[in-house]
Amino acid sequence: MSKVAHCNCGALRAEVDGEPEAVVACHCVDCQRRTGSVIGVGAYYPENRVRITGERKNFMRGTASGKKFEQSFCPHCGTSVFWVAELKPNVVGIAVGCFADPTFPAPMRSVWEQTHHPWLGLPEGIQHYSQGRAGTTPR
Ligand SMILES: [Zn+2]
Ligand SMILES: [Zn+2]
Repeated sequence: MSKVAHCNCGALRAEVDGEPEAVVACHCVDCQRRTGSVIGVGAYYPENRVRITGERKNFMRGTASGKKFEQSFCPHCGTSVFWVAELKPNVVGIAVGCFADPTFPAPMRSVWEQTHHPWLGLPEGIQHYSQGRAGTTPR
């Protein structure tokens, strides 16, 4: 079954097949600024199950691991819809909010909790990391 994530104005769309390989809640300051919210929640799909349509602009930034991270947003309305990390170039991260689907699977992991807003609750039983998954062990 396919699902569509899209920006506010609808011009930039990401259609995906099947279930995500991972759903991750990230509290890093870059996700906070990317979304304008206090948390970024991403669903990760292999690139061959993602079809992107529409005009986009890309913003490239560095990460804590020293690798690049390219996030794509709609040039008309500014919504950040998807991203690709140099660390895993064949995987596309899609902003779960862009699916606007409350039945979307909950995060299985919570990362960069060192900058977690303390009032924000998280689902029971998920994995917690103080930084990224690569650099830290679960706590
Ligand atoms: Zn748009
Ligand atoms: Zn983040």
